[in-house]
Amino acid sequence: MALSNVTGAKCTICGRITPAEPETTTCPHCGGILDIEYDYDYIRSSIAKNPMNERNGRTMWRYMEFLPVEGIGERPRLRVGGSPLYRADALGSLLGIRDLWIKDDGQNPTASLKDRASAMAVVKAEEAGRMTIACSSTGNAASSLAGNAAAAGLSTYIFVPSRAPKGKVAQLMMFGATVILVEGSYEDTFRISAEAIDRWGWYNRNAAINPYLMEGKKTVSLEIAEQLSFKVPDYVAVSVGDGCTIGGVWKGFKDLYGAGLIDRLPRIISVQASGCCPINTAAAAGTMEWVPQEENTLADSIAVGVPRNPVKALRAIRESDGVVVNVSDEEIMEAMRLLGAHAGVFAEPAGAAGTAGLKKAVELGLIEKNASVVSIVTGNGLKDVNNAIRAAGEPMSIKPDMKLLLEAFAARGLDIS
Ligand SMILES: *Cc1c(COP(=O)(O)O)cnc(C)c1O
Repeated sequence: MALSNVTGAKCTICGRITPAEPETTTCPHCGGILDIEYDYDYIRSSIAKNPMNERNGRTMWRYMEFLPVEGIGERPRLRVGGSPLYRADALGSLLGIRDLWIKDDGQNPTASLKDRASAMAVVKAEEAGRMTIACSSTGNAASSLAGNAAAAGLSTYIFVPSRAPKGKVAQLMMFGATVILVEGSYEDTFRISAEAIDRWGWYNRNAAINPYLMEGKKTVSLEIAEQLSFKVPDYVAVSVGDGCTIGGVWKGFKDLYGAGLIDRLPRIISVQASGCCPINTAAAAGTMEWVPQEENTLADSIAVGVPRNPVKALRAIRESDGVVVNVSDEEIMEAMRLLGAHAGVFAEPAGAAGTAGLKKAVELGLIEKNASVVSIVTGNGLKDVNNAIRAAGEPMSIKPDMKLLLEAFAARGLDIS
């Protein structure tokens, strides 16, 4: 069934347009990744009839005319989207930024931005008449798919690298997924999942292959814009693994611009880990030709040596006149502490990486101090408690005795009077 707001799916490689069906994945002509395109006139007139500020419901489905679905059907859904945008003055002054906002997407139902993509995947799978979905993931795509599918009564097959943090694996088991831990890299995990999906014909939630997922992820930008009364910030900082998130962030702003809801576009700050930064390396060299890298970072969600969506990521950086920054594990852990202690936001390592990159971009003079910036926290710290403790340190530990408490305070240099 043709959607009134969607004009088709355009190949990011050969430029040809194919109809956007629920099962549309890659380009039938050249195998390239597809981009969903919209009729902006239709969107504009539909919003004129039903203005944003008169709508109820703070979920990602609030932006229905920007999404490639007719509706979300009758099945139960988790509440995805509607995450807070905090003004973070204290953190901003520590980072040397005049106008800093934190978008805490760790507050989604399964605690990461991936819920936006997985909620979309579940609806598209239902449209395609499929009750089983599969994906490979470094962790969050999997846990979000398992949770969103469980709510709707669909079943899931999940492939994750065996290095995935316990918190994420626990979520998978709790949501009733069939979980396969793959002893190998994310690259290996992706490959075996693709073979299994081919073999058993499950609905494919692999983010690069399925063009609808980025459409879900872009709702983070629609929300940011609405939360800022459609005044666009100068910069948006986000961490990058496969490249679907940054692609979605950019697509959201472009669609808003296309529909006339905003009058300018932000520059995107693309943050990767120094130990695994194939996309930023290509972007910095001004080329679309990326080279695989090892996966050397504690930020498991962005430890992606062979990115699955480099085209959309590199295009987002280039088109937005973006800024690329790589951060060390030390810098990521420092950003985790800063977000926690000065904004009350608990981020997993990849969730804090955007903020770490922002801090570094200011230090390197890559962005102006009087800029307005939104830093997206993409995942919650409870998913990876080991690295949280590694970053924040161990607490004092005493037997219940006042003398020992005084000694412990003194040992820490705490002078309490
Ligand atoms: C997946 C993920 C990212 C990166 O998204 P990509 O689409 O892989 O680039 C960043 N942070 C967290 C917490 C994630 O789960």
